[in-house]
Amino acid sequence: MIRISDIIDKISENNPDADLDIIDKAYIYSARVHEGQLRLSGEPYLSHPLEVAGILADMNLDAVSVAAAILHDVIEDTSATPEGIEEMFGPEIQHIVSGVTKLSKLPFRSSQARQAENIRKMILAMADDIRVILIKLADRLHNMRTLQFHKKEQKKIIIAQETLDIYAPIADRLGIYWIKKELEDTSFKFLLPEDYSKITSLVSKDQKEREQYIETVKNYIIKKMDEANINCEVLGRNKHYYSIYNKMVNQNLAFDDVYDIIAFRIILDTIPQCYEALGLIHALWKPIDIKFKDYIGRPKPNMYQALHTTVIGPFGERIEIQIRTREMDKVAKSGIAAHWGYKEGKRIDENVSKTYAWIQNLVENQESYRDPGEFLESVRIDLFPDEVYIFTPRGEVKSLPKGATPVDFAYSIHSEVGNQCSGAKVNGRMVSLQYELKTGDVAEVITSKNHHPSKDWLKFVKTVKARSRIRQWIKTQEKDRSLSLGREMCEKAFRKYRLNFNALLKSEEMEKVAEHFGFKTVDDLIANIGYGKITPLQVVRKIAPQPEGKEERESIFYKIIGRVKKKKAKGGVIVKGVDDILIKFGKCCQPVPGDPITGYITRGYGVTVHRANCINALNMNPERQIDVEWNEEIAEKYPVKIRIRSYDRMGLLSDVVGNISKHEANIISAQTATDENKMVESYFTIDVEDTEHLNRILLSIKKVKQVMDVKRIG
Ligand code: MN
Repeated sequence: MIRISDIIDKISENNPDADLDIIDKAYIYSARVHEGQLRLSGEPYLSHPLEVAGILADMNLDAVSVAAAILHDVIEDTSATPEGIEEMFGPEIQHIVSGVTKLSKLPFRSSQARQAENIRKMILAMADDIRVILIKLADRLHNMRTLQFHKKEQKKIIIAQETLDIYAPIADRLGIYWIKKELEDTSFKFLLPEDYSKITSLVSKDQKEREQYIETVKNYIIKKMDEANINCEVLGRNKHYYSIYNKMVNQNLAFDDVYDIIAFRIILDTIPQCYEALGLIHALWKPIDIKFKDYIGRPKPNMYQALHTTVIGPFGERIEIQIRTREMDKVAKSGIAAHWGYKEGKRIDENVSKTYAWIQNLVENQESYRDPGEFLESVRIDLFPDEVYIFTPRGEVKSLPKGATPVDFAYSIHSEVGNQCSGAKVNGRMVSLQYELKTGDVAEVITSKNHHPSKDWLKFVKTVKARSRIRQWIKTQEKDRSLSLGREMCEKAFRKYRLNFNALLKSEEMEKVAEHFGFKTVDDLIANIGYGKITPLQVVRKIAPQPEGKEERESIFYKIIGRVKKKKAKGGVIVKGVDDILIKFGKCCQPVPGDPITGYITRGYGVTVHRANCINALNMNPERQIDVEWNEEIAEKYPVKIRIRSYDRMGLLSDVVGNISKHEANIISAQTATDENKMVESYFTIDVEDTEHLNRILLSIKKVKQVMDVKRIG
């Protein structure tokens, strides 16, 4: 078991100026709060945070990381609170420890492949300080090293699978290959014990022979480099078990065919030496040219640099060789952590972002990548500023664009869920549909069968899916409305010709008519009548062709469309997309131009226009609603009812009438009554041009002596 003094030795060796006090303090505190707790191995619990801290110290991380590692489980497993940690160790350590705690509390249900990518991205998105991830990886590494102490077999499998699907790939992306390899091999051991032991025994079987082989190849290389006066170090070692297993499975090879289970590495001082060494190797052994990769000229997004080549070796076997400088070797061993060492207290979004700046550069130059899949796979984690990761109540993770709302979330689950979305809960609380979802939120959609998408949603949704589904729904609604409107219009027109529209509706003739106008179905035909693309009369003529004079035609035309607007074929209201349709004005509210209006499809009467705030209109079935607007080109007069309250006097009525006439408004009806208190209540229906005209009249009546109140009613 590692001791605190070992950790302190490691740190001061790497960085003599490190703040060792904080590590001491963290150790004493952690020992106190974990006191009495045991690991499943039977060891004192404290052994775990110390091992994790030791791993971080080995990676050369700063004192703050190591101290945070010693404290990483105290909030979750002891009585310690974030406030207490902050008071004692400062905001930075508190932030890291809370970050690690938050990660372990994420309600993941499974690490199944379909979800793995989202879970990985969520973990990376949750940690705004890279040290949170590094501690989490070290934590998982030590937990895997002690996984055999777990009592439940099933639990071991779940943890191992999660490690393989989630944590090993994260280590890989951050370029910390040694952690990746160890996580993969230990997971492999628990998940596929038979395959694991087969491969380990095969690898160890010819161990002696293999060591001899490694020596031989190393000597060849060193001799060649010596001849060119290049100073170098050559390493040769077995690939890790899981990668051998993968190679066998993926390429369908027998163990003996996996020649390159040994990888050689040449470490040099300078970059030019690397290229020179590559040339010498290629002169020595024939390269398999498709296998050459220059990660020095073009580093991997996780900063990995090296030259990779595969050659045909001295015995006709394939050898994989990596060539790199000492500095590159350090980066390859600890990945992003190598860039983090010594630099005390810097958040990922401040200083490390500079190191990540080149990733942006890569994104911009991505067309120069030969393999876009490989490119995307390795940088995707760094594109997440544009994404958020949200849990479903079942613990699945959904990835959505930043700024996404519960409506987007609902549509990402299912179109029907979106269409019936009436509300949402986030982390157990009701939120508005415009709420901006954040990474880690658990969101739940409340649906109701009677609820429908609203045009307003288009103003705030962020996903293409939500947008297109809402539009589609509105379009379908409009089609339904056009269909019922078209049906009304046809019924009327047909009746004029003593034709029974409903009986003809399913006839072959009707299908022919639809075809004639270029529609696939009769419904499409009817809907297009509703849209105003063709007139019911055109259909009537196709169904019952008969000679008819202009007069006759006009009379029918007039009867269909002109009932209210007797003088003109077109009224003062436009039904959107429809030009010839029966328009009626609601008696209840008497709209005049200037009033916001809405239309309702009424059985047998075409469209009735109401004021948008009319009580009757508000109570009507919204599915029969249709957009209408005033036609400003048509000057008509419209009746409107007004009420005047006044105190009686001689000549009052005549003054009121005079003011109405002065403004050239026709009085259609008048009614007036005086009560015993000499209060007069008068009702006039007058014809006005528009709201402006009406207001001028009302204002002028108001100025009449003894008039107390003038009001438009209805
Ligand atoms: Mn832990």
